[in-house]
Amino acid sequence: MKNTSPAHNGRHFLQIPGPTNVPDRVLQAIAMPTIDHRGPEFAALGQEVVAGMKRVFQTHDTVVIYPSSGTGAWEAALSNTLSPGDHVIMFETGHFATLWRQMAARLGLEVEFVPGDWRHGVDPAMIEEKLTADREHRLKAVCVVHNETSTGVTSRIAEIREAIDRAGHPALFMVDTISSLASIDYRHDEWKVDVTVGGSQKGLMLPPGLGFNAVSKKAMAAHKNARLPRSYWDWEAMLETGRTGFFPYTPATNLLFGLREALKMLLDEEGLPAVFHRHARHAEATRRAVAAWGLEVLCADPREHSNSLTAILVPDGFDADRLREIILESFDMSLGTGLGKMRGKVFRIGHLGHFNDLMLCGTLAGVEMGLHRAGIPHHAGGVTAAVTFLGSVLSDLVPAA
Ligand SMILES: *Cc1c(COP(=O)(O)O)cnc(C)c1O
Repeated sequence: MKNTSPAHNGRHFLQIPGPTNVPDRVLQAIAMPTIDHRGPEFAALGQEVVAGMKRVFQTHDTVVIYPSSGTGAWEAALSNTLSPGDHVIMFETGHFATLWRQMAARLGLEVEFVPGDWRHGVDPAMIEEKLTADREHRLKAVCVVHNETSTGVTSRIAEIREAIDRAGHPALFMVDTISSLASIDYRHDEWKVDVTVGGSQKGLMLPPGLGFNAVSKKAMAAHKNARLPRSYWDWEAMLETGRTGFFPYTPATNLLFGLREALKMLLDEEGLPAVFHRHARHAEATRRAVAAWGLEVLCADPREHSNSLTAILVPDGFDADRLREIILESFDMSLGTGLGKMRGKVFRIGHLGHFNDLMLCGTLAGVEMGLHRAGIPHHAGGVTAAVTFLGSVLSDLVPAA
Protein backbone atom coordinates (compact mmCIF):
# COMPACT_ATOMS: atom_id res chain seq x y z
CA MET A 1 0.00 0.00 0.00
CA LYS A 2 1.22 3.50 -0.80
CA ASN A 3 2.39 5.41 2.25
CA THR A 4 0.34 8.61 2.09
CA SER A 5 0.79 10.09 5.53
CA PRO A 6 3.87 11.35 7.36
CA ALA A 7 2.46 9.54 10.41
CA HIS A 8 3.00 6.16 8.77
CA ASN A 9 6.65 5.78 9.62
CA GLY A 10 8.07 3.84 12.51
CA ARG A 11 5.79 1.40 14.29
CA HIS A 12 2.03 1.30 14.20
CA PHE A 13 0.55 1.60 17.71
CA LEU A 14 -1.90 -1.27 18.19
CA GLN A 15 -3.65 -0.22 21.39
CA ILE A 16 -6.89 -2.12 21.02
CA PRO A 17 -7.68 -4.50 23.89
CA GLY A 18 -6.86 -7.51 21.78
CA PRO A 19 -5.40 -8.72 19.58
CA THR A 20 -2.39 -7.18 21.30
CA ASN A 21 1.21 -6.50 20.28
CA VAL A 22 3.14 -9.70 19.65
CA PRO A 23 6.78 -9.65 20.84
CA ASP A 24 9.35 -10.09 18.06
CA ARG A 25 10.75 -13.23 19.70
CA VAL A 26 7.28 -14.78 19.73
CA LEU A 27 6.89 -13.92 16.03
CA GLN A 28 10.27 -15.51 15.38
CA ALA A 29 9.23 -18.65 17.25
CA ILE A 30 6.07 -18.86 15.15
CA ALA A 31 8.17 -18.55 11.98
CA MET A 32 9.96 -21.86 12.70
CA PRO A 33 9.32 -24.67 10.18
CA THR A 34 6.18 -26.64 11.02
CA ILE A 35 6.97 -30.05 12.50
CA ASP A 36 5.22 -33.43 12.43
CA HIS A 37 2.47 -33.22 15.01
CA ARG A 38 2.64 -37.02 15.43
CA GLY A 39 6.41 -37.03 15.98
CA PRO A 40 8.51 -37.10 19.19
CA GLU A 41 9.59 -33.45 18.98
CA PHE A 42 5.96 -32.41 19.03
CA ALA A 43 5.14 -34.48 22.11
CA ALA A 44 7.60 -32.45 24.20
CA LEU A 45 6.11 -29.20 22.91
CA GLY A 46 2.54 -30.31 23.68
CA GLN A 47 3.42 -31.36 27.22
CA GLU A 48 5.38 -28.18 27.86
CA VAL A 49 2.64 -25.76 26.76
CA VAL A 50 -0.10 -27.60 28.67
CA ALA A 51 2.08 -27.56 31.82
CA GLY A 52 2.79 -23.85 31.31
CA MET A 53 -0.87 -23.02 30.79
CA LYS A 54 -1.70 -24.75 34.08
CA ARG A 55 0.62 -22.29 35.81
CA VAL A 56 -1.07 -19.38 34.01
CA PHE A 57 -4.55 -20.57 35.10
CA GLN A 58 -3.08 -21.28 38.57
CA THR A 59 -4.48 -24.80 38.47
CA HIS A 60 -3.56 -28.46 38.82
CA ASP A 61 -6.70 -29.37 36.85
CA THR A 62 -6.89 -30.35 33.20
CA VAL A 63 -6.15 -27.75 30.52
CA VAL A 64 -7.22 -28.24 26.92
CA ILE A 65 -6.01 -26.16 23.97
CA TYR A 66 -8.09 -25.73 20.82
CA PRO A 67 -7.09 -24.32 17.45
CA SER A 68 -9.88 -21.74 17.76
CA SER A 69 -10.76 -18.21 18.72
CA GLY A 70 -12.03 -17.51 22.23
CA THR A 71 -15.59 -18.01 21.03
CA GLY A 72 -14.81 -21.68 20.37
CA ALA A 73 -13.60 -22.10 23.94
CA TRP A 74 -16.93 -20.59 25.13
CA GLU A 75 -18.78 -23.24 23.15
CA ALA A 76 -16.53 -25.98 24.51
CA ALA A 77 -17.28 -24.90 28.09
CA LEU A 78 -21.06 -25.06 27.60
CA SER A 79 -21.35 -28.05 25.29
CA ASN A 80 -19.13 -30.31 27.42
CA THR A 81 -21.01 -29.79 30.67
CA LEU A 82 -24.69 -29.09 29.99
CA SER A 83 -27.80 -30.71 28.48
CA PRO A 84 -30.60 -29.31 26.28
CA GLY A 85 -33.04 -27.25 28.34
CA ASP A 86 -30.65 -26.81 31.29
CA HIS A 87 -31.07 -23.50 33.11
CA VAL A 88 -28.05 -21.25 33.45
CA ILE A 89 -27.62 -17.76 34.87
CA MET A 90 -25.62 -15.09 33.03
CA PHE A 91 -25.14 -11.37 33.65
CA GLU A 92 -25.34 -8.42 31.27
CA THR A 93 -22.00 -6.83 32.07
CA GLY A 94 -21.48 -5.76 28.44
CA HIS A 95 -21.07 -6.89 24.85
CA PHE A 96 -19.13 -10.11 25.47
CA ALA A 97 -21.50 -11.33 28.18
CA THR A 98 -24.35 -10.64 25.74
CA LEU A 99 -22.67 -12.69 22.99
CA TRP A 100 -22.01 -15.61 25.34
CA ARG A 101 -25.67 -15.53 26.35
CA GLN A 102 -26.73 -15.60 22.67
CA MET A 103 -24.56 -18.64 22.14
CA ALA A 104 -26.04 -20.42 25.18
CA ALA A 105 -29.56 -19.76 23.89
CA ARG A 106 -28.65 -21.05 20.40
CA LEU A 107 -27.22 -24.21 21.92
CA GLY A 108 -30.60 -24.91 23.53
CA LEU A 109 -30.00 -23.71 27.09
CA GLU A 110 -32.53 -21.70 29.10
CA VAL A 111 -30.71 -18.53 30.09
CA GLU A 112 -31.70 -16.30 32.95
CA PHE A 113 -29.98 -13.08 31.84
CA VAL A 114 -29.68 -10.58 34.68
CA PRO A 115 -29.81 -7.04 33.23
CA GLY A 116 -26.93 -4.64 33.83
CA ASP A 117 -25.97 -1.04 33.01
CA TRP A 118 -22.59 -1.81 31.31
CA ARG A 119 -20.81 0.18 34.03
CA HIS A 120 -20.70 -2.42 36.80
CA GLY A 121 -19.47 -5.96 37.24
CA VAL A 122 -21.49 -8.84 38.63
CA ASP A 123 -22.76 -8.15 42.15
CA PRO A 124 -21.86 -11.06 44.47
CA ALA A 125 -24.75 -10.25 46.85
CA MET A 126 -27.23 -10.51 43.98
CA ILE A 127 -25.81 -13.92 42.99
CA GLU A 128 -26.17 -15.14 46.56
CA GLU A 129 -29.79 -13.98 46.59
CA LYS A 130 -30.63 -15.63 43.25
CA LEU A 131 -28.98 -18.92 44.16
CA THR A 132 -30.52 -19.02 47.63
CA ALA A 133 -33.94 -18.52 46.03
CA ASP A 134 -33.29 -21.48 43.66
CA ARG A 135 -34.13 -24.15 46.24
CA GLU A 136 -34.71 -26.93 43.68
CA HIS A 137 -31.27 -26.26 42.15
CA ARG A 138 -32.66 -25.75 38.68
CA LEU A 139 -29.71 -23.56 37.75
CA LYS A 140 -26.92 -25.77 36.46
CA ALA A 141 -24.29 -23.11 35.83
CA VAL A 142 -23.27 -19.58 36.80
CA CYS A 143 -21.42 -17.92 33.90
CA VAL A 144 -19.42 -14.74 34.46
CA VAL A 145 -17.11 -12.70 32.23
CA HIS A 146 -14.14 -11.83 34.46
CA ASN A 147 -12.93 -8.80 32.53
CA GLU A 148 -15.64 -7.29 30.31
CA THR A 149 -13.57 -6.05 27.38
CA SER A 150 -16.36 -3.84 26.03
CA THR A 151 -16.53 -1.75 29.23
CA GLY A 152 -13.26 -2.10 31.13
CA VAL A 153 -15.02 -3.55 34.17
CA THR A 154 -13.55 -6.49 36.10
CA SER A 155 -15.91 -8.64 38.15
CA ARG A 156 -14.70 -9.87 41.55
CA ILE A 157 -14.45 -13.62 41.02
CA ALA A 158 -13.21 -14.48 44.54
CA GLU A 159 -16.23 -12.73 46.08
CA ILE A 160 -18.60 -14.37 43.61
CA ARG A 161 -17.19 -17.77 44.61
CA GLU A 162 -17.86 -16.95 48.27
CA ALA A 163 -21.41 -15.92 47.40
CA ILE A 164 -22.05 -19.24 45.62
CA ASP A 165 -20.66 -21.10 48.63
CA ARG A 166 -22.77 -19.11 51.10
CA ALA A 167 -25.86 -20.03 49.10
CA GLY A 168 -24.75 -23.67 49.29
CA HIS A 169 -25.62 -24.06 45.61
CA PRO A 170 -24.11 -26.88 43.49
CA ALA A 171 -24.15 -25.00 40.13
CA LEU A 172 -21.03 -25.16 37.98
CA PHE A 173 -19.05 -21.92 37.95
CA MET A 174 -17.76 -20.85 34.53
CA VAL A 175 -15.58 -17.81 33.95
CA ASP A 176 -14.46 -16.12 30.73
CA THR A 177 -10.90 -14.83 31.27
CA ILE A 178 -10.14 -14.11 27.62
CA SER A 179 -9.01 -10.52 28.32
CA SER A 180 -7.74 -11.00 31.89
CA LEU A 181 -5.63 -14.15 31.72
CA ALA A 182 -1.92 -13.28 32.16
CA SER A 183 -2.79 -9.63 32.81
CA ILE A 184 -4.98 -9.65 35.92
CA ASP A 185 -4.59 -12.09 38.83
CA TYR A 186 -6.80 -15.12 38.25
CA ARG A 187 -6.88 -18.35 40.29
CA HIS A 188 -8.81 -21.27 38.83
CA ASP A 189 -8.15 -23.63 41.76
CA GLU A 190 -8.32 -21.25 44.69
CA TRP A 191 -11.59 -19.76 43.44
CA LYS A 192 -12.97 -23.22 42.67
CA VAL A 193 -13.92 -22.35 39.12
CA ASP A 194 -15.20 -25.33 37.12
CA VAL A 195 -14.48 -24.14 33.60
CA THR A 196 -12.22 -21.21 32.79
CA VAL A 197 -12.26 -19.96 29.21
CA GLY A 198 -9.19 -18.30 27.65
CA GLY A 199 -7.88 -17.08 24.30
CA SER A 200 -4.41 -16.44 22.88
CA GLN A 201 -4.60 -12.92 21.49
CA LYS A 202 -4.81 -10.74 24.59
CA GLY A 203 -2.68 -11.12 27.73
CA LEU A 204 -0.83 -14.09 26.27
CA MET A 205 0.73 -11.84 23.59
CA LEU A 206 0.02 -14.22 20.71
CA PRO A 207 -1.88 -13.77 17.46
CA PRO A 208 -5.51 -14.96 17.50
CA GLY A 209 -6.02 -18.68 17.02
CA LEU A 210 -5.82 -20.58 20.31
CA GLY A 211 -8.72 -21.20 22.72
CA PHE A 212 -8.33 -22.69 26.20
CA ASN A 213 -10.44 -24.45 28.81
CA ALA A 214 -9.24 -25.20 32.34
CA VAL A 215 -11.52 -27.93 33.64
CA SER A 216 -12.22 -28.90 37.27
CA LYS A 217 -12.94 -32.45 38.42
CA LYS A 218 -16.53 -31.40 39.06
CA ALA A 219 -16.85 -30.17 35.46
CA MET A 220 -15.28 -33.40 34.24
CA ALA A 221 -17.90 -35.35 36.20
CA ALA A 222 -20.68 -33.20 34.67
CA HIS A 223 -19.18 -33.94 31.25
CA LYS A 224 -20.00 -37.66 31.68
CA ASN A 225 -23.75 -36.97 31.76
CA ALA A 226 -23.96 -33.82 29.62
CA ARG A 227 -26.10 -34.33 26.50
CA LEU A 228 -25.62 -31.20 24.37
CA PRO A 229 -24.27 -32.42 21.00
CA ARG A 230 -20.48 -32.15 20.88
CA SER A 231 -17.84 -33.47 18.57
CA TYR A 232 -15.00 -31.10 17.65
CA TRP A 233 -15.12 -29.58 21.15
CA ASP A 234 -15.34 -32.83 23.10
CA TRP A 235 -12.90 -32.79 26.03
CA GLU A 236 -12.69 -36.57 25.97
CA ALA A 237 -10.39 -36.65 22.98
CA MET A 238 -8.25 -33.82 24.42
CA LEU A 239 -7.65 -35.36 27.83
CA GLU A 240 -4.54 -37.26 26.84
CA THR A 241 -2.71 -34.20 25.58
CA GLY A 242 -1.28 -33.18 28.94
CA ARG A 243 0.18 -36.66 29.41
CA THR A 244 1.24 -37.64 25.88
CA GLY A 245 1.66 -34.20 24.33
CA PHE A 246 -0.37 -35.26 21.29
CA PHE A 247 -3.62 -33.73 20.05
CA PRO A 248 -6.58 -35.67 18.60
CA TYR A 249 -6.54 -33.58 15.42
CA THR A 250 -4.06 -31.19 13.81
CA PRO A 251 -3.12 -28.57 16.37
CA ALA A 252 -2.06 -25.01 15.52
CA THR A 253 1.57 -26.13 15.62
CA ASN A 254 3.21 -22.78 14.94
CA LEU A 255 1.02 -20.91 17.43
CA LEU A 256 2.14 -23.47 20.00
CA PHE A 257 5.78 -22.55 19.22
CA GLY A 258 4.75 -18.97 19.95
CA LEU A 259 2.92 -19.99 23.11
CA ARG A 260 6.02 -21.78 24.41
CA GLU A 261 8.04 -18.57 23.93
CA ALA A 262 5.35 -16.35 25.51
CA LEU A 263 5.11 -18.69 28.51
CA LYS A 264 8.88 -18.45 28.95
CA MET A 265 8.59 -14.66 29.10
CA LEU A 266 5.55 -14.57 31.40
CA LEU A 267 6.38 -17.38 33.81
CA ASP A 268 10.16 -17.76 33.88
CA GLU A 269 11.53 -14.33 33.06
CA GLU A 270 9.10 -11.70 34.37
CA GLY A 271 6.94 -13.90 36.64
CA LEU A 272 3.17 -13.60 36.98
CA PRO A 273 3.19 -11.34 40.10
CA ALA A 274 5.33 -8.79 38.23
CA VAL A 275 3.14 -9.12 35.14
CA PHE A 276 0.03 -8.35 37.22
CA HIS A 277 1.76 -5.41 38.89
CA ARG A 278 2.88 -3.98 35.55
CA HIS A 279 -0.71 -4.04 34.30
CA ALA A 280 -2.05 -2.47 37.52
CA ARG A 281 0.49 0.31 37.26
CA HIS A 282 -0.31 1.12 33.62
CA ALA A 283 -4.03 1.06 34.32
CA GLU A 284 -3.60 3.48 37.22
CA ALA A 285 -1.47 5.82 35.09
CA THR A 286 -4.11 5.72 32.36
CA ARG A 287 -6.91 6.61 34.78
CA ARG A 288 -4.83 9.51 36.10
CA ALA A 289 -4.53 10.80 32.55
CA VAL A 290 -8.29 10.47 32.02
CA ALA A 291 -9.01 12.33 35.26
CA ALA A 292 -6.62 15.13 34.28
CA TRP A 293 -8.34 15.43 30.88
CA GLY A 294 -11.59 15.90 32.80
CA LEU A 295 -13.12 12.89 31.04
CA GLU A 296 -14.95 9.96 32.58
CA VAL A 297 -14.01 6.31 32.77
CA LEU A 298 -16.98 4.04 31.91
CA CYS A 299 -16.41 1.72 34.89
CA ALA A 300 -18.40 3.22 37.77
CA ASP A 301 -16.95 1.25 40.69
CA PRO A 302 -13.26 1.75 41.57
CA ARG A 303 -13.12 -1.81 42.94
CA GLU A 304 -13.86 -3.02 39.42
CA HIS A 305 -11.48 -0.90 37.32
CA SER A 306 -9.89 -3.10 34.68
CA ASN A 307 -6.12 -3.41 34.61
CA SER A 308 -6.05 -4.56 30.99
CA LEU A 309 -8.01 -1.80 29.31
CA THR A 310 -9.74 1.52 30.01
CA ALA A 311 -13.00 2.55 28.33
CA ILE A 312 -13.45 6.33 28.23
CA LEU A 313 -16.71 8.20 27.64
CA VAL A 314 -16.69 11.12 25.21
CA PRO A 315 -18.94 14.05 26.12
CA ASP A 316 -22.50 14.08 24.70
CA GLY A 317 -22.64 15.39 21.15
CA PHE A 318 -19.23 13.95 20.22
CA ASP A 319 -18.51 10.74 18.34
CA ALA A 320 -15.88 8.46 19.82
CA ASP A 321 -15.40 6.72 16.46
CA ARG A 322 -14.61 10.02 14.76
CA LEU A 323 -11.95 10.58 17.42
CA ARG A 324 -10.53 7.11 16.74
CA GLU A 325 -10.48 7.85 13.00
CA ILE A 326 -8.59 11.12 13.52
CA ILE A 327 -6.07 9.39 15.78
CA LEU A 328 -5.55 6.58 13.25
CA GLU A 329 -5.10 9.00 10.35
CA SER A 330 -2.93 11.49 12.18
CA PHE A 331 -0.84 9.31 14.47
CA ASP A 332 -1.18 5.77 13.14
CA MET A 333 -2.63 4.41 16.36
CA SER A 334 -5.55 1.97 16.61
CA LEU A 335 -7.82 2.29 19.66
CA GLY A 336 -10.75 0.06 20.55
CA THR A 337 -14.18 1.02 19.24
CA GLY A 338 -17.35 1.17 21.34
CA LEU A 339 -19.10 -2.20 21.08
CA GLY A 340 -22.84 -2.87 21.09
CA LYS A 341 -24.74 -0.13 22.83
CA MET A 342 -21.53 1.78 23.61
CA ARG A 343 -20.92 2.44 19.87
CA GLY A 344 -19.82 6.05 19.38
CA LYS A 345 -20.00 6.74 23.11
CA VAL A 346 -16.68 5.30 24.27
CA PHE A 347 -13.22 4.56 22.99
CA ARG A 348 -11.06 1.93 24.62
CA ILE A 349 -7.34 1.99 25.33
CA GLY A 350 -5.80 -1.47 25.51
CA HIS A 351 -2.84 -1.49 27.92
CA LEU A 352 -2.35 -5.22 28.17
CA GLY A 353 0.13 -7.73 26.88
CA HIS A 354 3.58 -6.80 25.58
CA PHE A 355 3.58 -3.21 26.81
CA ASN A 356 5.81 -0.81 28.74
CA ASP A 357 5.95 2.69 30.23
CA LEU A 358 7.09 4.49 27.11
CA MET A 359 4.50 2.71 24.95
CA LEU A 360 1.86 3.92 27.40
CA CYS A 361 3.24 7.48 27.28
CA GLY A 362 3.12 7.38 23.47
CA THR A 363 -0.40 5.99 23.55
CA LEU A 364 -1.67 8.67 25.93
CA ALA A 365 0.11 11.39 23.92
CA GLY A 366 -1.71 10.14 20.81
CA VAL A 367 -5.03 10.32 22.63
CA GLU A 368 -4.37 13.80 24.01
CA MET A 369 -3.36 15.14 20.59
CA GLY A 370 -6.40 13.42 19.08
CA LEU A 371 -8.76 15.00 21.60
CA HIS A 372 -7.34 18.37 20.61
CA ARG A 373 -7.70 17.75 16.88
CA ALA A 374 -11.23 16.37 17.26
CA GLY A 375 -12.28 19.47 19.20
CA ILE A 376 -13.43 17.42 22.18
CA PRO A 377 -13.54 19.59 25.31
CA HIS A 378 -10.83 18.48 27.72
CA HIS A 379 -8.02 19.83 29.83
CA ALA A 380 -4.42 19.43 28.74
CA GLY A 381 -2.14 17.63 31.18
CA GLY A 382 -3.28 14.02 30.98
CA VAL A 383 0.06 12.87 29.64
CA THR A 384 1.85 14.91 32.30
CA ALA A 385 -0.23 13.29 35.04
CA ALA A 386 0.66 9.83 33.75
CA VAL A 387 4.35 10.68 33.29
CA THR A 388 4.55 12.15 36.79
CA PHE A 389 2.98 9.02 38.23
CA LEU A 390 5.11 6.56 36.26
CA GLY A 391 8.27 8.48 37.12
CA SER A 392 7.63 8.42 40.85
CA VAL A 393 8.14 5.63 43.37
CA LEU A 394 4.42 5.96 44.07
CA SER A 395 3.77 3.83 41.02
CA ASP A 396 5.81 0.97 42.47
CA LEU A 397 3.34 0.75 45.34
CA VAL A 398 0.22 0.05 43.30
CA PRO A 399 -1.26 -3.24 44.47
CA ALA A 400 -1.32 -5.89 41.75
CA ALA A 401 -5.00 -6.65 42.17
C1 LIG B 1 -12.06 -11.10 22.88
C2 LIG B 1 -13.07 -11.64 23.82
C3 LIG B 1 -13.96 -12.67 23.45
C4 LIG B 1 -14.05 -13.20 22.05
O1 LIG B 1 -12.95 -13.92 21.69
P1 LIG B 1 -12.70 -14.25 20.14
O2 LIG B 1 -11.30 -14.73 20.16
O3 LIG B 1 -12.93 -12.99 19.38
O4 LIG B 1 -13.67 -15.31 19.77
C5 LIG B 1 -14.81 -13.16 24.40
N1 LIG B 1 -14.82 -12.68 25.65
C6 LIG B 1 -14.01 -11.69 26.05
C7 LIG B 1 -14.08 -11.19 27.45
C8 LIG B 1 -13.12 -11.14 25.14
O5 LIG B 1 -12.32 -10.14 25.51
